Amino acid sequence: MSNRFRVGIGYDIHRFTEGRRLILGGVDVPHSRGLAGHSDADVVLHAVTDAALGAAGLPDIGELFPDTDPAYKDADSRRLLTDALERIQAKGFAPGNVDLIIHAEAPRLSPYKRAIAESIATLMGVAPDTISVKAKTNEGLGPVGSAEAIACTAVALLEQTEL
Ligand code: MG
Repeated sequence: MSNRFRVGIGYDIHRFTEGRRLILGGVDVPHSRGLAGHSDADVVLHAVTDAALGAAGLPDIGELFPDTDPAYKDADSRRLLTDALERIQAKGFAPGNVDLIIHAEAPRLSPYKRAIAESIATLMGVAPDTISVKAKTNEGLGPVGSAEAIACTAVALLEQTEL
């Protein structure tokens, strides 16, 4: 079987906290609370970055950018994705498509899905229609359902461009 196409999966969850901006996929989403984390807590970019790293067979986001490292305190997660993409491209892979689900009870994300897709597409250097953003509630169940947290699941496809 050819290894020309490689798929990876990423998942992340961050809890809500007071006094922080809510940043999803590099987009500022107006909300009463933001997400807690060592970096900017962009749960969407973390899941996408892990999916892409996984597809390339690279170490995961926690290994590459440890949350114990002061260098990543309040880090812009766009920088983490860009750094990961450089490592991915150095292995001869180019990004294909990304499909992702944001699990959030609040805020309502449908007005921001397009902006999030465009933001990720710009970061990855791909066409916006190759980034699919879905938003789902958790039907009131669990930490996502009680609006204690936002989670994200992402799948990324890479194509080997150099063999
Ligand atoms: Mg994270």
